[in-house]
Amino acid sequence: MKTAIKCNCGQRILARDVMQTGYYLRLIGPSFVYVKYRCSRCKKLGEQFVKQEEWEDGILHDIPSEVTPEDKPRFDAMGKIDIHECIDAHFELDRMSNMRELLDAIEEAKK
Ligand SMILES: [Zn+2]
Repeated sequence: MKTAIKCNCGQRILARDVMQTGYYLRLIGPSFVYVKYRCSRCKKLGEQFVKQEEWEDGILHDIPSEVTPEDKPRFDAMGKIDIHECIDAHFELDRMSNMRELLDAIEEAKK
């Protein structure tokens, strides 16, 4: 099954909606890629964690047939940057002082 990030309203989140990504490394258990976005439909801010092993370059992109050959290298490059720009997540996670909120976010990412 192909993983996709979706807003609560059901809109799929694509690369253009993403405001921030990060990398959440855990010592035990799976690591997560963190994505903060603004939904293109309902304009709400949201954030989601995607398990590292479920993350793939196409996750933030429309199905390949909608990507023009000119765009493809650019999108590919963005995908790689997304996962390696891993610095900001920890600062963001610090603000999630409520542990329950973090766990909910991780649960949400599993769906
Ligand atoms: Zn939405």
